[in-house]
Amino acid sequence: MKKLNTLVCIFFVLSFLIVDAACAKSLILHNATFYTMTGSMDVTENMETVSAVYIQGSKIKAVGDDQTILAMRKPGTVVINLEGKTVFPGFIDPHTHLFNGAQPYFDYNTLDRVQAMAVENGITSFGNMYTDQEWLDFILAYADKGRVRNRVFLYLNFNHSCGDVFGNWYEAYAPKEALAHNIWVNGIKIYAERSVCDGFSSRPVFSDDLKENLPEDSLYQNSRLHLSEDELSAVIQRADDLGYQVAIHAMGDLGIETSLLAIASVLEGKPNINRHMILHNSFLRDDMFELYENSDIVALIEPFSRCELNTYLRRGIGDDNIAYYKRWYDLSLRDIHMALDSDWPSYGEQTINPMLKIHAMVTGSNIFTVYSGECDEPIEEQTLEVLQCLKMMTIEAAYALRAEKKIGSIMPGKFADLVVLSQDPMMVDLEDIKNIKVLMTIINGKVEYGEYVNGRLKMYHFCSSKRSCTPSISDSHLRHP
Ligand SMILES: [Zn+2]
Repeated sequence: MKKLNTLVCIFFVLSFLIVDAACAKSLILHNATFYTMTGSMDVTENMETVSAVYIQGSKIKAVGDDQTILAMRKPGTVVINLEGKTVFPGFIDPHTHLFNGAQPYFDYNTLDRVQAMAVENGITSFGNMYTDQEWLDFILAYADKGRVRNRVFLYLNFNHSCGDVFGNWYEAYAPKEALAHNIWVNGIKIYAERSVCDGFSSRPVFSDDLKENLPEDSLYQNSRLHLSEDELSAVIQRADDLGYQVAIHAMGDLGIETSLLAIASVLEGKPNINRHMILHNSFLRDDMFELYENSDIVALIEPFSRCELNTYLRRGIGDDNIAYYKRWYDLSLRDIHMALDSDWPSYGEQTINPMLKIHAMVTGSNIFTVYSGECDEPIEEQTLEVLQCLKMMTIEAAYALRAEKKIGSIMPGKFADLVVLSQDPMMVDLEDIKNIKVLMTIINGKVEYGEYVNGRLKMYHFCSSKRSCTPSISDSHLRHP
């Protein structure tokens, strides 16, 4: 009977796509484990799960057990039996360069390609963390063609990674308002330190304490801040007054400390309602943790274990500075918001894969090819729990993007952004997490990617509204199943 239902479903999906007439208005996914991600960050807490979800249009209408949800079925509802698979809220990657970092630049097909890659990896929303006027104009023109599939949150650059100041041009684009279909401006990007500039690597800025540990010929001896604490405060103040979030690139302990103090001086003890955040957070001293906590500053971290250290050591970080590096576990012990990003493609193409990210974070090994040969043994210090990683890729990442009321968990009223996985990352051996596959990705109630349903249907589109029934790469496949 189960098989018959699936076949009927396939036929139904195929038939309305082929005739390209009406779009189904509702979708039921059932017989699965949906982790709702509505609990706290407490890793000992039992995660709430449901077995079925009812989607109407772009939103989740109801969650519950199969019996309750299947009873909501109406004529025209598409029903998909997920046959025991695992479902999470769509993955959210708050710090990427998917739009500005993929080559060839300024090419619509490139943006199509990276979005397809994101969707195939279960990513439903992302932050684009470098957007100058030229890129903004290009992205908006692309969006006008109706080609943006993910939710994209733009960060407009106050300055360049080399330090050139672009200034307050961003003020022409109001924060939080949709600039185009699926495109929002969230805030501004500030480089506190030099990042990759003219082909040379980033230059973390260290305090005197850590500088003492640098070899004399270290690349980092001459690292300088782009902005003093007062200058940074002034930039943050202006953005904060206008409702923009600031996202500050800072890796060295002095760069981070300056950023933390500048944000604190703007907030003056008030809540961090604009979610000012720091990217990278690579080198931290013990006395800095309470600065995050005191101002509730959001920390975005990368999915690379300390296995990357050898690269830094070669560039002259000094053995005694290793202890300060990538203290993700120490950060996780504090009462702050943390989210996991990829900074794609800075650390290689593979970092878009959410399962490789979790694998690196929980095992302390880096199997990303960009690190091949970097470390023989995993470095287990500072690793995190699987659940923490999943939270940091869903509800906590939504918080970092100021969108936690709309996305990041599976509950009625939220947008239906979901990812179906081949296995449950919380149930398999840590080593096996890297082998888990994304089977289906749903954004706005629309199946944007799927290679599931008895292995017979590789990809298809589910249309939640007539307007969204645009032709896609899947159509040709569908017509010749
Ligand atoms: Zn970046």
